[in-house]
Amino acid sequence: MRNGLKPDLIERVLGAKPKYTIAELEEKFPARNLPEGAYVTRFAPSPTGFMHLGNLYSALIDFKLASQSGGVFMLRIEDTDTKREVEGAVDIVKNNMRRFGFKYNNDEKYGPYFQSQRKDIYRSVAADLLAKGLAYPCFLTATEMEEIRAKQNAAGFATGIYGEFARDRDISEEEIIKHLDNGEVPSIRLYSTCNPEQRIFCKDAVRGSISFPENNEDLVLIKSNDGLPTYHFAHLCDDHFMHTTHVVRGEEWLPSLPLHYQLFRMMGWNPPLYIHTATLDKIDEETGKQRKMSKRKDPELNVEFFFAAGWPTVALIEYIGNILASGYEEAKLKGQVKSFWEYEMKPKKIPMSGGLFDMKKLEWWAKEHIATLPVSELVQKIVDWVNEYGDSVHKEQIRDIDYLTGALSIERDNPKRIRKDFITWKQTLSEIAYFWDDLFVPNKEFEFNKDALNEFLATFDIADDKDTWWNKIVAVATKLGIKNGDVAMNLRVAVTGRTNTPDLYSVMQVMGEQRVKERVKNAI
Ligand code: GLU
Repeated sequence: MRNGLKPDLIERVLGAKPKYTIAELEEKFPARNLPEGAYVTRFAPSPTGFMHLGNLYSALIDFKLASQSGGVFMLRIEDTDTKREVEGAVDIVKNNMRRFGFKYNNDEKYGPYFQSQRKDIYRSVAADLLAKGLAYPCFLTATEMEEIRAKQNAAGFATGIYGEFARDRDISEEEIIKHLDNGEVPSIRLYSTCNPEQRIFCKDAVRGSISFPENNEDLVLIKSNDGLPTYHFAHLCDDHFMHTTHVVRGEEWLPSLPLHYQLFRMMGWNPPLYIHTATLDKIDEETGKQRKMSKRKDPELNVEFFFAAGWPTVALIEYIGNILASGYEEAKLKGQVKSFWEYEMKPKKIPMSGGLFDMKKLEWWAKEHIATLPVSELVQKIVDWVNEYGDSVHKEQIRDIDYLTGALSIERDNPKRIRKDFITWKQTLSEIAYFWDDLFVPNKEFEFNKDALNEFLATFDIADDKDTWWNKIVAVATKLGIKNGDVAMNLRVAVTGRTNTPDLYSVMQVMGEQRVKERVKNAI
């Protein structure tokens, strides 16, 4: 085994004395006291200000697995890439967690939960690797690495710092000191002893055992420019000391799995169980073919799209829940469970590829969800949405809450016949817009039967009950020798501008006498 560095040189290489030994860290972050089978998961976004559907998909799995097993769900902010960081991004993440109802339990004992605040931990683990000769300081500059890459490309070799290309792999103490005296700051690289001719077996909870060629790259563990860890090294340290049992992450991390296994083995730690999620596909509007979603083409990839457009977050969760746990819809239709939270999902059943996100299906979930809401809750959701995203027209629609409630109450009292044409908060408002005079669009195409409308007005009384009201319509029809339905249609179009509305009697009741009379007169 190769010799490691001595403590005083490690201190110089790392720019500070390591605060802990591994034993001290183990003591500081003891095993969690949880029931057998409890999942410990984390959602670990980088604060880029952008939460995409794939993040939501992973976070939902994390939260669901932890909550259904009586475990722990954490929110960890992976802010080690200062270049990608966006101001306010952490608030966006937290806000999204709240909107989706993903309650996280960031027990202080295992924190901090910002990677930028965990430098002492990373440095301490790096010190241990340096002392054991499993890592080394690397003084290659960006230009030198460029040159190496160009050489490798020209010769048709794999790019990267490995083997003969890893100039500082076996650097002597004297050379290290010379570089340091020169004011150079090294990165800390893994001293890989693995051989890509051999294969390593890794486990994924969905895919089972997968073998990869071993990793021989001396990957950077700690960056030279800011002393922060790379994703790989932070993952090793954090998921070990936070006692994460399951790492749910996008399949773009699958190629890094052999490296992560290598790191865990080097430390003598058990790796977590990995769940690599497939990226979500959609049906392309133009070609009709299934394809991956893209940030550039598909605004709905950003979860903010759904908030702004007023989609019920519950419907989004229910629908995505059904993508990742395909038996859910059936269980719900059979009445075995009421919501995704009641359904027990199985990690093994998470789709391995091409989970399809279809807006039409989301519409179904949204309609079903809105149909279950008591009217007071529906009103509240709409008001909340308008306050955050609405324009002046929407604001006008929520000014008189009683009137809004009236318009929304129609066809909601009979549980067997609840209207199912409301999809989003925004679309609901536009669906009922004709209730407001400013938004009402008189129907210019319809050829009104003026006699029918005049006859109706002659006996119309808002205080009539539904039977009396209908009998009057029948009387008009009889008198004029036309169909009852024709009279009703004339009235419907006169008061709503549309040929298709919910129960007309209820519509008139909500609108009130004045408004009904005025619209009928205007139609005449
Ligand atoms: N910060 C990583 C990402 O956003 C997290 C991956 C993981 O969950 O380990 O891709």
